[in-house]
Amino acid sequence: MVRAAAQIFIDDDQGYLAWQAAHPDLYVINAKRSLNPNNLVLHRTTCRTVSGTPTRGSQWTGPYVKICGTRSDLDAYPTARPCRICLGS
Ligand SMILES: [Zn+2]
Repeated sequence: MVRAAAQIFIDDDQGYLAWQAAHPDLYVINAKRSLNPNNLVLHRTTCRTVSGTPTRGSQWTGPYVKICGTRSDLDAYPTARPCRICLGS
């Protein structure tokens, strides 16, 4: 079986939250809806900026969308910057 590649959640908070609950050990890229490659931030699924209660407005997957997967799935987005909170050294 071929493993699924990165999943993108747009206007689908329920899907995103379900994915997050199922994959607490994976990674999430927070992206503008346009997927502007200059505005991508890589987080651990459990980072407080991408889980819990949304910090920007009331949606997780509205103006900003979530690209979810393993680290290698997300290698498809090489311009993503690591979050300083959850991936900072
Ligand atoms: Zn983070």
